Amino acid sequence: VAKTDGKRTWRLYRDELHQEMIRRLEMRSALVEAVPGDQMRLRYQPIVDLPTGEMIGLEALVRWQHPLRGLLGPNEFIELSEENGSVVAIGGWVLREALETFAGWRAAPGGGSLKYISVNVSARQFRAPGFVDQVREVLAETGARPEWLLLEITESLVLHDADQVWADLRELRAMGIRIAIDDFGTGYSSLSYLSQMPVDVLKIDKSFIDDILHSAQQMALVETIVSLARTLELNVVAEGIELDGHRAALAAMGCPYGQGYLFSKPVTADEIGARLGISTTGTTVTPSSK
Ligand code: C2E
Ligand code: MG
Ligand code: MG
Ligand code: MG
Repeated sequence: VAKTDGKRTWRLYRDELHQEMIRRLEMRSALVEAVPGDQMRLRYQPIVDLPTGEMIGLEALVRWQHPLRGLLGPNEFIELSEENGSVVAIGGWVLREALETFAGWRAAPGGGSLKYISVNVSARQFRAPGFVDQVREVLAETGARPEWLLLEITESLVLHDADQVWADLRELRAMGIRIAIDDFGTGYSSLSYLSQMPVDVLKIDKSFIDDILHSAQQMALVETIVSLARTLELNVVAEGIELDGHRAALAAMGCPYGQGYLFSKPVTADEIGARLGISTTGTTVTPSSK
């Protein structure tokens, strides 16, 4: 009996593996069609000034409107798109769409309080030949100013391939673009390395924020990162703020900026426009009761 059960379990497991392989193969080939097929979407999550709660910037977060599977989040496809290189086209689309939309908000009355748009760049996209030129072109074509753009990269990108990557980072910063290290603290940057990195902003990963109210040690760790950033004259954004207690603790330790569900989930461009008092046609609407 045990033997047949084992066989059946194995068969189930094998079938699941098989289905998973097929799913990944299908997703990979479908990803290549995603940009030409107009299936990519953006959501925008506000970044706020912690002491006042005022929205000062936005992070563009990609979604894939899959023809059969519905709206997929980046965790379901970015890794696959890195593997087959489609991330280069997807990332290029994200950059253009985000800057075009942001330039529209900035041009509208009511959009002047927005200081920047944050765009995630994958390692493979950053290292693809011509990335810096592409950024320059997209800025020129959308009329967006370089100071409006914050590029979010990962710690590991700055740690590896140092020479070319660092040269490109310096070139981008010389243009006036700012660079953030996303998910800071989850990589392995050494202190001495961090002080030399050509970056402007640290984004403290959500995993550090989650426990600050329950663990004095986590709280001290986040305080250390915040004061480290101050020493290095870097800006800091705390990610994943879900509770008012998180906000209060971070504000008390002098963390200037934050984002998280407490303030807003990622929302559509129309929703951001509405919050700014800008209608989709770009004309100002008079705020009614709210
Ligand atoms: P990330 O850049 O660290 O973005 C923050 C993620 O945390 C987003 O997930 C956001 O929706 C989520 N988040 C924000 N606040 C909270 C909160 O209070 N609680 C919780 N539970 N989650 C929160 P999302 O949109 O699923 O994106 C996941 C990751 O996918 C991003 O992490 C980023 O690494 C990557 N990604 C997103 N858009 C792009 C893109 O255009 N290009 C590339 N290469 N990667 C992207
Ligand atoms: Mg990010
Ligand atoms: Mg992050
Ligand atoms: Mg994160």
